[in-house]
Amino acid sequence: MNLTSIKKFERAAELRRLLSKAGHSYYVLNNPIMEDSVYDRLYRELISLEKENPKLIAIDSPTQRVGGLPVLEFSSVMHRIPLLSLDNAFNFEEVKNWYSRNQKIINHKSEHNSLIENCEMVCELKIDGNAIALSYSNGLLVQAASRGDGKEGEDITSNIKTINSIPLSLNLKNPPKWVEIRGEAFIPNLTFEKINSERKKNGEQIFANPRNACAGTLRQLDPKIAATRNLDFFAYTIHLDENWIPSLNEPKQPDDQWKSLEWLKYTGFKVNPNAQLINNYQSITEFCNTWEIERKNLPYATDGVVIKINKFDLQNQLGFTQKAPRWAIALKYPAEEGPTKLKKLSCQVGRTGAVTPVAEFEAITLAGTSVSRATLHNANRLESLNLHSGDTIVVRKAGDIIPEVVRVLEDLRASNATRLHLPKHCPECNSKLIKETNEAATRCINNSCPAILKGTLRHWVSKSAMDIDGLGSKLIEQLVDRNLVQSITSVYELDQESLESLDRMGKKSAEKLLEKIHASKLKSWSKKLYGLGIHHIGEANAKVLSKKFTSAKNLSDASLKTPHIITRMHGIGDEITQSIKAWFSNENNQKLISDLERLGFSFELNNEEIDNKDKILDENNHCSGKTFVLTGSMSSLSRNKAKEMIEKSGGKVSSSVSRNTTYLVAGLKTGSKLEKAKGLGIKIINEKELLELLPK
Ligand code: NAD
Repeated sequence: MNLTSIKKFERAAELRRLLSKAGHSYYVLNNPIMEDSVYDRLYRELISLEKENPKLIAIDSPTQRVGGLPVLEFSSVMHRIPLLSLDNAFNFEEVKNWYSRNQKIINHKSEHNSLIENCEMVCELKIDGNAIALSYSNGLLVQAASRGDGKEGEDITSNIKTINSIPLSLNLKNPPKWVEIRGEAFIPNLTFEKINSERKKNGEQIFANPRNACAGTLRQLDPKIAATRNLDFFAYTIHLDENWIPSLNEPKQPDDQWKSLEWLKYTGFKVNPNAQLINNYQSITEFCNTWEIERKNLPYATDGVVIKINKFDLQNQLGFTQKAPRWAIALKYPAEEGPTKLKKLSCQVGRTGAVTPVAEFEAITLAGTSVSRATLHNANRLESLNLHSGDTIVVRKAGDIIPEVVRVLEDLRASNATRLHLPKHCPECNSKLIKETNEAATRCINNSCPAILKGTLRHWVSKSAMDIDGLGSKLIEQLVDRNLVQSITSVYELDQESLESLDRMGKKSAEKLLEKIHASKLKSWSKKLYGLGIHHIGEANAKVLSKKFTSAKNLSDASLKTPHIITRMHGIGDEITQSIKAWFSNENNQKLISDLERLGFSFELNNEEIDNKDKILDENNHCSGKTFVLTGSMSSLSRNKAKEMIEKSGGKVSSSVSRNTTYLVAGLKTGSKLEKAKGLGIKIINEKELLELLPK
């Protein structure tokens, strides 16, 4: 055995151990120890190791069985027909492969026309609940069983009977001797939230997601508890006695999935209304893309789309693997979390001297983008993660949110791994780092630390401040490292010769850059205020403050003499006022302003801002003083354009929803902001309504 195969052997054993532990916690204890997407990725890693080398397949590998073992408290039920799982696809390419594979099997087995061209399929939402098998004998519900390990489940009939949407008898004049109905029991979102807030109040452990809450409910020994939990059920499969003869005018024995859904509706079941019968591959992508967005408006959780070959004769030809039918596949929605391997821990020193630990890891695709670095925020967070070299970490990136390390999978840690801490000295200037007890940040307090100066300059030249395109991070590095720049002021004292001395800087580029540097003196007062980097003054606050206090002098005077006027402004408050006061009271900062004024800067409203100010005072303007949060994409405006229009009208655009938000503007593909806004009772408007609010 060579080294790599030893490593693969060990890795497979580690993965088996961790996945078995996770599976037990998930299926048996209803208490998952990791996110589903993390489980899925590790599971796939194990599958691919096993595929590459079948000798690695152990009898106890989690890849060799469906679900979990039945719980001992309930009597067990042998399934008449195995209740299997579904194969998963994580992108359209995998769905296409599934489709082509089926086509090959069918073409090989029969004279059937090309499956790709004309095969009917049913797209159904994948309800994130628990698979249940209901047995009806002569039309009466006699038994309900959970999936268990696929062969043997638990008898949960008394709990299932508390679900009002499950008929106790079938609506048929001549019911079959036996029929088994399969479907998904689930907990609606609102009920799930209620259950969890109640559990929190009672000091009980909360459920990780609606699926676990549902499984936990179905395993309650007292059906009275299940009855209070408002469970629901969507039916999607039937296994019907072949000898059954329907009465006249009643639906016949279905010969495809679509007719099965009709049959189920007729006999009294609730069937998810969002299924669609399609006959080409293109429609799969359309259905999935639509529901990836629309699912957020559904009152229950879905985690993907199930695509099923419609005709039963084709299904029979395709058959089953050990774990799942070949004729169906579940496309799971893009994951926002996933496991990856830590490469190194680095540290960033920001313009305030705060040292941020950053995890650098093997690239992973999350929410559609590749991520290879994530912040660990501060030393406390780093310590609580108990991070070691080479750890497998769980990284999360949802929508616009900055990627973060959620936790470490300690079971996958190498025995020789060493614990990682924040360094004691600044990685840039080597001075001792300080951590005040009341602060989360660890800081470098060396005023001449080059990293602090670089951070200050990066902020000053950034798009939202002086917008000096061409003066990027690499150039700033050179300017500071060669001691050509020692402060913001000295950027404006640079000459052609010193710029030309920099790497990859020709005569023309130096001229252009100088022009841009000097043009930045004319930027608006609000951009300058933001550029000064006063703690808590982000872009939005700078805009609001610059309108009320039309110059640096006004703002400085107000912070010292009438701070209550600043504090009372919408969305400002005491902490920000104190920070402004502290900034203007510092002699170095006063000197910075006067030095820049000497170089031609003016720290007051420019003409364009004065014009906009008049617009804001227009009484038909419904945006002035309001706080907006934007989510999702809009059809006629880019996000930046919408932001600019709101701000020109005196509104403020904030990046996160809070009680101070006046409107949430929801476009397409909304994310968690919508849920949060709904929860806080914030007014939600669409793009058209936003345009109506803006002054004409
Ligand atoms: P699955 O959830 O990926 O899909 C199969 C199930 O989908 C079916 O059994 C059925 O219950 C359900 N389903 C929903 N709507 C359906 C529809 N319209 N038609 C047919 N079926 C439908 O597979 P699984 O075997 O139930 O569970 C495996 C998954 O459980 C893993 O992929 C993982 O995400 C999760 N899991 C997580 C952990 C953890 O630690 N977080 C551990 C084990 C398993």
